[in-house]
Amino acid sequence: MSSSAGLIIPCKAAVAWEAGKPLVMEQVEVAPPQALEVRIQIKYTSLCHTDLYFWEAKGQTPLFPRIFGHEASGIVESVGEGVNDFQVGDHVLPVFTGECGQCRHCKSEESNMCDLLRINTDRGFMLNDGKSRFSIDGQPIHHFLGTSTFSEYTVVHSGSLAKINPLAPLDKVCVLSCGISTGLGSTLNVAKPKQGSTVAIFGLGAVGLAAAEGARIAGASRIIGIDLNPKRFEEAKKFGVTEFVNPKDQDRPIQEVIAEMTDGGVDRSIECTGNINAMISAFECVHDGWGVAVLVGVPNKEAVFMTKPINLLSERTLKGSFFGNYKPRTDLPSVVEMYMNKKLDVDKFITHRVPFSEINKAFDLMLKGEGLRCVIDMEK
Ligand code: NAD
Ligand code: ZN
Repeated sequence: MSSSAGLIIPCKAAVAWEAGKPLVMEQVEVAPPQALEVRIQIKYTSLCHTDLYFWEAKGQTPLFPRIFGHEASGIVESVGEGVNDFQVGDHVLPVFTGECGQCRHCKSEESNMCDLLRINTDRGFMLNDGKSRFSIDGQPIHHFLGTSTFSEYTVVHSGSLAKINPLAPLDKVCVLSCGISTGLGSTLNVAKPKQGSTVAIFGLGAVGLAAAEGARIAGASRIIGIDLNPKRFEEAKKFGVTEFVNPKDQDRPIQEVIAEMTDGGVDRSIECTGNINAMISAFECVHDGWGVAVLVGVPNKEAVFMTKPINLLSERTLKGSFFGNYKPRTDLPSVVEMYMNKKLDVDKFITHRVPFSEINKAFDLMLKGEGLRCVIDMEK
């Protein structure tokens, strides 16, 4: 038992009071974990584009005040009633989509869409009692994705937590708790390119480049990167991307350009932009007869996917995935092991680091499209 178990912990958190306004460093009170919950001390967290969308709240449900953050690493401080699989001091990664272990999805080999703990961007409270574990002078602050990692301490459902190798460096593997595993799994678990395939990646942020890493591991012969931001192309060369296309330089639909480059279309495509037009292009650029497209980006709530049914009839497959189809508790520890065994390079995704007090800089970098992942050090 830790000395703080059962007590409220006062600590620092970066609170978003209003959409699009800089986060404010506040003293918050973090309540103890309830049944099946775990309170963790966050060590490192990083910014993923999903945080940014819900902070901007353009085309997403606004819910404020809120503590964002879902890509992180931490250490268990205390556990609630009925938690048997975590102990104080365990090294953990919180995940935005959970695994209760009991439902049909958790029991299915094919799904990671847990009935109880699947991603829910509009829920701002804990499942147990529909209340927040965070407050400032008695005012509740909303949770985000059940993780809220932009706080020195947070409370998460034990099903949304993966216990990892205690030797793994927390300042690096934090990025495996969302973006990198999502991209990697979208290729390896969902698109499943065969050796020698051609693969198109739409969006060369951290998620897209992790998808490219998956294509490289799978033995793709050509990896075509598509992005509107030319700064991304230099970085992408380090990730095995072999060709680059900027839609801004083309005067016709990008799917036509790709079809021409690849004699009819790529074998696999993975969309990691969140832009609806890129999603449609990503689907229409796969080869008929066998092509598979995987949607990963988070679209605007109102966005509608439109394509001619003949594109599907001609034997193209369209899929989508959360968290690269990894089951967070069962599979994430093995992704950490891929890093420990040097099968997966994580370091090259981390282009910036800032102390927690300067968390708004991470938002500025992402808004400017600079770098891939900015890791935020909670102890500085
Ligand atoms: P990022 O901002 O670092 O990268 C996105 C890239 O897409 C940028 O380089 C941008 O220039 C490019 N882009 C935007 N619109 C484009 C277009 N129309 N055509 C070509 N390129 C375009 O973001 P990220 O953190 O890598 O996340 C990528 C996406 O994946 C986001 O939508 C994020 O919300 C989503 N995401 C999904 C999951 C999941 O489980 N499905 C998990 C994590 C992130
Ligand atoms: Zn479940």
